[in-house]
Amino acid sequence: MLCLKILVQKFGGSSVSDLERIRKVAQKVVATRRAGYDLVVVVSAMGDTTDDLLEMAKALSPNPSRRELDMLLSVGERISMALLSMAVHAEGLEAVSLTGSQCGIITTNSHSNARIMDVRPFRVQDELEQGRIVIIAGYQGSSYRREVTTLGRGGSDTTAVALAAALGAEACEIYSDVDGIYSADPRVVLSARQLVDLSYDEMQEMARSGAKVLNEQAVEFARIAKIALYAKSTHQSDSAGTLIRLDQPEEYLRRLELGRPAVAVSQVNRGLWVQAAQGADHVMAIAATSDCQICRWVPGRACELFLGTENNHDLAGFVAQIEEGGADVSVRWAGLVSVVGQGIGGQPRWASQGHDVLAGAGVAAQGLSISLSRLSWVVDESDVAAAAQALHAAFVD
Ligand code: ASP
Ligand code: MG
Repeated sequence: MLCLKILVQKFGGSSVSDLERIRKVAQKVVATRRAGYDLVVVVSAMGDTTDDLLEMAKALSPNPSRRELDMLLSVGERISMALLSMAVHAEGLEAVSLTGSQCGIITTNSHSNARIMDVRPFRVQDELEQGRIVIIAGYQGSSYRREVTTLGRGGSDTTAVALAAALGAEACEIYSDVDGIYSADPRVVLSARQLVDLSYDEMQEMARSGAKVLNEQAVEFARIAKIALYAKSTHQSDSAGTLIRLDQPEEYLRRLELGRPAVAVSQVNRGLWVQAAQGADHVMAIAATSDCQICRWVPGRACELFLGTENNHDLAGFVAQIEEGGADVSVRWAGLVSVVGQGIGGQPRWASQGHDVLAGAGVAAQGLSISLSRLSWVVDESDVAAAAQALHAAFVD
């Protein structure tokens, strides 16, 4: 059989939130297939299914078993994959749905926040050779102990890119209800603009520091495998979306020439801000597998961590364990606002400019972390919006 180029398309929860939308996605998928691609489609759970399932679990137990939670949450994506496969059949083409485990996604054993370690997509390749559209449940895999695992919130992106890499796909398209990546959250920063393209590095820093459009590990996979990654709108076919690719020296050089290295501002509205001196090593051990936006550690002497909590399904237990580190361990809720741009952390002047901007906006910075492409300030939760607006105005507008 003639070998076609492989394309991976991923549809987010809002794109498959009801039967009418699933039918529309099926029509889109069928049109792409007819345009001459071997097609792998990854789906998220319908609408708010994942949140609803989580709520049910929490109503039964404040601290549900993480293994059972993964069994439960992985079902959301299975519903979408089976329905979409049926809808494609109804449009007259052959499709087959597969779970993460069936398509060879092997993960770590860390339930509810597992990392993909290997993808062995033999079954997917077989089905493509048979001429079928392969529809895959995102956000899940199976551990080397053959347990069902999930990949953390937003993990269907990771499934899509990991498969694209393993299959040597031409590109991976991530469809959602927003038309690409913006320079800030447009609900908070009114002047936020859609970005035409940006580097993997910048996208990864944005995802890591709160931009919800793409999952961080997904960007990591795309970067390693050099897969072109598109963020597009499902229903707005006239918008080109955003392209994430290696580097665009031109764009970057232009920004440098203007003396404006920043591309975007991102925010985490709520996370745990943990500081310790004596208890530092204890805190680091407990937080070992947490999502971490800031991490500073001088072994035996001090640590400061800003931790995301959306994949932590037993927060009270987690905080209690951290506090066992002793009297000097402090844990509190805070927000995080970041300025992202290639090289922005390379010269301290951008950090001091940001500091002045925040002070001018009446925002007290509780902490600052500098990496090569990101400056992140810890602020009070109530200051997040004002901080994002002020930093965007100074660095990006
Ligand atoms: N359904 C999961 C979530 O809501 C995974 C995903 O949508 O990518 O986080
Ligand atoms: Mg979802």
